[in-house]
Amino acid sequence: MQTQYQYGIYIGRFQPFHLGHLRTLNLALQKAEEVILILGSYRAAADTRNPWQLEERIAMIQACLDHQTRQRIHFVPVRDWLYSDNLWLAAIQQKVQEITEGSESIVVMGHHKDASSYYLHLFPQWDFLETGYYLNLHSRQIRAAYFTGQEQDYRDKLPPVITHFLEQFKTSDRYQQLCEEYRFLQEYQQAWKKAPYPPVFVTMDAVVVQSGHVLMVRRKARPGLGLMALPGGFLRQEETLVEGMLRELKEETRLKVPLPVLRGSIVDSQVFDAPGRSLRGRTITHAYFLQLSGEELPAVKGSDDAQKAKWISLADLYAQEEQIYEDHLQIIQHFVSRV
Ligand code: NAD
Repeated sequence: MQTQYQYGIYIGRFQPFHLGHLRTLNLALQKAEEVILILGSYRAAADTRNPWQLEERIAMIQACLDHQTRQRIHFVPVRDWLYSDNLWLAAIQQKVQEITEGSESIVVMGHHKDASSYYLHLFPQWDFLETGYYLNLHSRQIRAAYFTGQEQDYRDKLPPVITHFLEQFKTSDRYQQLCEEYRFLQEYQQAWKKAPYPPVFVTMDAVVVQSGHVLMVRRKARPGLGLMALPGGFLRQEETLVEGMLRELKEETRLKVPLPVLRGSIVDSQVFDAPGRSLRGRTITHAYFLQLSGEELPAVKGSDDAQKAKWISLADLYAQEEQIYEDHLQIIQHFVSRV
């Protein structure tokens, strides 16, 4: 087989892997001897944008390929760093280097579908091939049809083995949860449709750390029901950001530390504004870093109408990355890497 490149790189979430993805993969297999398939958003908590975990995504893609073709593909998971393209690029560079061992015959392939495809042009060291758009297929529309039971709207957009996988997945608890979450998000967005402009929500989060432990809550409401999150919430009309953050912290955790001490423990703050950070809609959060000290971790208790609060060691937190809501792990990492 005569190929133009030694390695082809194809980056995506493949949620799910549709006929447009398959066409690009086949093109990559024509252009390159081996294909490095970067599976993005690795270890992100399951939500309606990223419903399937790494192993499920790999199984779906492999099911579309024959045995010989599978041997030519490297599956490479890469997690997101929403606030640092450089860290994301470093991870990709490192993993590609391990596979290609110094080869310069490398092409990145993909389609510039919208502003979110900017990442395709962050690889000046490699050639780039624009693959073009195929059949007007959007993963987002396929997921919308899937979570609302409109099978006729996605069936012909997927390889038959993927349709079969999705049918089987319908019997899982996760599917039911995701359908409810999808409904919730649709209703939430519908409620704001009458506003003259699309809303921008303002929230506050508290990153309270003591002796390598972070104070987390378990979400009792949608979205992200059951996931671990930072204590926080929406800003009220009459309060400042700091007051709002302290109010939410107290309400959600009943942290047994007096308010003046908490106020005096704020050592840093930062705005987190990645446009896609929340599925509810555009949400800008102001996170505050509170560094506490003492021999014992202060008592906490989840209130009835909020979430169960708990101190979690950083090691346990990192081990449970796919249980953490939105970008909260990245917010924690931002602060703990500095102080
Ligand atoms: P995707 O599955 O939506 O798309 C993958 C590729 O297929 C893209 O090139 C897309 O344009 C192309 N494609 C989609 N539909 C097509 C069609 N019908 N015909 C032809 N091509 C089609 O994946 P994605 O969301 O673009 O994946 C990017 C990944 O990189 C994500 O996981 C994202 O989070 C990650 N990322 C991370 C960072 C960071 O962490 N700093 C920065 C940039 C990107």
